[in-house]
Amino acid sequence: MSANAYVTSALLPALRIGAMLAMLAVAAVIAAAALGLVPDRLALQLAERTRTVDLLAYTARQFAQADDEPALESLLAHLVDSGIARGVYAQREDGSLLTVHGAVDLTRATRPADPDFAVIELVTPRGAWGRLGVAFPPLAGLLPPALAHPLLGLSVFVGLICLPAFTLYLRRVLTTQDPTSVMPERVRTVMNALVEGVVLLDARQRIVHSNWAFARNFDTPADEMRGRSLSAFEWRYLRAERPDEPLPWDLALQTGKTQIDRSIVLTTATHGRRIYSVNVTPMFDSKRQPRGALATFDDQTLVVEKNAALRKALATLDRQRNEIAKQNEELKGLATRDSLTGCLNRRAFLEIFEAELLAAQKRGYGLACLMCDIDAFKLINDTHGHSTGDRVIEQAARLLQMAVRENDHICRYGGEEFCVLLPGLSSSEAMNIAERMRATIEAQMTTLVRLPDIPVVTASFGITDLQRGAQTLSELIDQADSALYRSKETGRNRVTVFTATGGRIRHLPDVRSRS
Ligand code: GH3
Ligand code: MG
Ligand code: MG
Repeated sequence: MSANAYVTSALLPALRIGAMLAMLAVAAVIAAAALGLVPDRLALQLAERTRTVDLLAYTARQFAQADDEPALESLLAHLVDSGIARGVYAQREDGSLLTVHGAVDLTRATRPADPDFAVIELVTPRGAWGRLGVAFPPLAGLLPPALAHPLLGLSVFVGLICLPAFTLYLRRVLTTQDPTSVMPERVRTVMNALVEGVVLLDARQRIVHSNWAFARNFDTPADEMRGRSLSAFEWRYLRAERPDEPLPWDLALQTGKTQIDRSIVLTTATHGRRIYSVNVTPMFDSKRQPRGALATFDDQTLVVEKNAALRKALATLDRQRNEIAKQNEELKGLATRDSLTGCLNRRAFLEIFEAELLAAQKRGYGLACLMCDIDAFKLINDTHGHSTGDRVIEQAARLLQMAVRENDHICRYGGEEFCVLLPGLSSSEAMNIAERMRATIEAQMTTLVRLPDIPVVTASFGITDLQRGAQTLSELIDQADSALYRSKETGRNRVTVFTATGGRIRHLPDVRSRS
């Protein structure tokens, strides 16, 4: 029998075994009767009745012989009044009646097979006096006539009492007391070998069978778990979806749905808090009603605790990594940026410049370099102080920044001198940018920085690109610088593109924005 069928119903097997046991009990009663161990109530009554008839015959004969008919009549009346007989009559030999008492059939003659009626012939030494008829109460007692035989009655009685009693008892035994009849020893051995806890439940969540791994939680032998309610232990969800959520086996039995990987916590006095991953599979009867469930308990305590510790450690690591990345970023900023303007410092700029130059040469892209120097800066410093001079440098950097693209690079090359790298651009494209820068500084600087004694702040620009003969970084910077020098020489506040003709640097007067 499968465990499912076992849980489904124990009534039929209990009834079968109960009927067999009742039959055995009846057979035992019959055997006991055959051995004379059962007293025969009918035989005892018959013997008593025979003694009564003998005594009556003897006494009546005495009264008849003495012709004491009143005494005879009184004796017979007493028999009826005391309940020994239902009725009596006395009839003389000539047919006349002396007396009739109670219910008696005067015409009835005794038959050997009728123990309820006796006819006594009274004969005296003077001859026959007549006869007495005695009707006794029936011997059958409470049982119907068909069962009047005492042994048959006893057998039926034993059978009727034993069958329901045995059946009810066996049903109880089969459901809660003795699963070995449905759980073969080899299956129990396999279940006990499992590391996971395994529990077989009936429809009311009572434990039908538990393996060792599960029973160990309660320091109880597996057999003693039987009949206990699984929900009665101290369970709670690790992460309940709602506060009153039924336990997984409750849900499986209520909904008929398998519950998978539900994390629940069991707290016991001796083992503390254990975390289990629980799977519950409901089992159904022939009408598809859940009649029990198989629950497995996988101890996850270590894994969950280790995971929690790991998560904590990872979070700490993550925080530290972010902190380090932030500090690195700050350090990098400090190491590569100028603190006043936020522009690249010369070292970082030259590194980038070198890489951009190599890439441009390799792929044949353009690359322009622009030098910018604020005009007559000394005057600003001298007139308004060094800190005002700083503010001018700061604002100049901001205005330059606004004029370039994202992948261009601006470097604070010296005090109030900037170098700008424009990848992919030719000098004529760079020239437009430089002109925009120049015009912006001229137009906005005195608005951005209050300089009461200086009406305008301007800057000069020098430009070159890869088309103008430079092969190295320093050659490019030198060309731009020399174009800037040319701007200064020719009146400042202008843009000059470097050009080399016949090995000689030539500044183009026509590219000046202002003369
Ligand atoms: P020019 O038009 O020829 O460029 O004239 P200039 O006055 O700008 O001359 P130059 O470029 O030679 O002078 C730069 C001055 O800038 C010299 C220095 O005192 C000043 N300077 C350098 N670094 C800083 C700085 O960080 N802050 C301030 N306020 N001044 C600086
Ligand atoms: Mg200057
Ligand atoms: Mg200068």
